Amino acid sequence: MGSPYWLEDVVPPRPQATRDGRVDVAIVGGGVTGCAAALRLAEGGLSVRLHEQRGIAEGASGRNGGFALRGGAASYPVARETYGAEESGELWRWTEAALDRLAGLAGDALRRPGSYRLAADEEEREAIRSEYEALREDGFAVEWLEDVPGGAAGKFHGALHHIGDGSIQPARFVRRLAARAAEAGVDIREHDLVEDVEALDADAVVVATDGYGHGLVPELADLVWPTRGQVIASEPLGRVLYDRPHYARQGFDYWQQLPDGRILLGGFRDVSIMDELTDVEETTPTIQSSLESFLWELAGERVPITHRWAGIFGLTQDMLPLVGRVPGRERIWVAGGYSGHGNVLGFACGELVADALLGRDTPQLALLDPARFA
Ligand SMILES: Cc1cc2nc3c(=O)[nH]c(=O)nc-3n(C[C@H](O)[C@H](O)[C@H](O)COP(=O)(O)OP(=O)(O)OC[C@H]3O[C@@H](n4cnc5c(N)ncnc54)[C@H](O)[C@@H]3O)c2cc1C
Repeated sequence: MGSPYWLEDVVPPRPQATRDGRVDVAIVGGGVTGCAAALRLAEGGLSVRLHEQRGIAEGASGRNGGFALRGGAASYPVARETYGAEESGELWRWTEAALDRLAGLAGDALRRPGSYRLAADEEEREAIRSEYEALREDGFAVEWLEDVPGGAAGKFHGALHHIGDGSIQPARFVRRLAARAAEAGVDIREHDLVEDVEALDADAVVVATDGYGHGLVPELADLVWPTRGQVIASEPLGRVLYDRPHYARQGFDYWQQLPDGRILLGGFRDVSIMDELTDVEETTPTIQSSLESFLWELAGERVPITHRWAGIFGLTQDMLPLVGRVPGRERIWVAGGYSGHGNVLGFACGELVADALLGRDTPQLALLDPARFA
């Protein structure tokens, strides 16, 4: 208990590349963002050192729900209204391409059965129905279901099937990324806390700490709010009830059944939403008991719980990540703030910040520029 199920996976071997002296780029954070950025930079010919205060993937990247979804944290209609119709279409397509690239690197850490966004009531049905229509209008692969097969059958008011979405073993994937980065020459330093980003001996620094490392760059403290998520996992069930990621109540509840039959369930942050605006990585009785009751409802029995854990993610005001140079800082760059939606976006944004440092322009850089809040 207290330790994420994902982190029990065997850690793959990795070469150790040691670099002394100044490097082109130092990265703070060894999650999906930091590892994706490191690999891309090293493949682009730059020297890279990555600093992680714990082990690789031991932050949110090894503590999440394992949903590998296209798109952003906001629903598609909200995104169209907030960021613009064209920008949202491009952003969604960009994340789909990232998910395809991720699949090429992930091996058996990723399956792509699709995902179900479920309507918990009639109001949510309307919202999901308009999301379905907007996505279909823009040519995305979606399906409307009046009901879903399996354990959720008869319990919801319709569902949107996002075809092509995935289920990921996030720690396995990120450790593989780290191994690739090390093979490409990245000096990965675990258990290495960075206290002062300006003191790092590098031409540029990428801060890839998402919800962790709050205050490391004071200018970001008001832009990325640490937010806690809690998860539980059951003993394996003898039957398959949920064959893909399911989520309901605007993503406040999310669950899936893993290949070994256990149900992983997270969410219920709205039960005590203000208490969850914290970077204290511990579970609480209030949310754990809500998760427990819902798990037993989903399983149809009081299945034993084997794992309980908490993780921290970074929430932003507009639910879009921040990727680019930190305003007012010459050498300091950031990629983070995925608002709980970072498995695919974090991979994409790690590569994006690396591309920016490699001098490659990408349209998403303008949309995600941290200076939009200045
Ligand atoms: C409970 C939970 C459920 C989630 N579910 C999903 C999901 O199903 N699908 C999805 O897409 N997203 C989900 N997310 C979000 C997703 O996990 C994150 O957005 C993503 O993992 C962020 O990756 P990252 O590499 O940017 O940050 P992290 O993986 O958090 O890595 C940041 C790293 O920085 C390190 N660090 C911080 N400060 C320092 C320092 N000073 N020096 C050195 N190292 C430092 C930390 O130790 C940490 O390992 C969830 C998040 C949580 C917490």
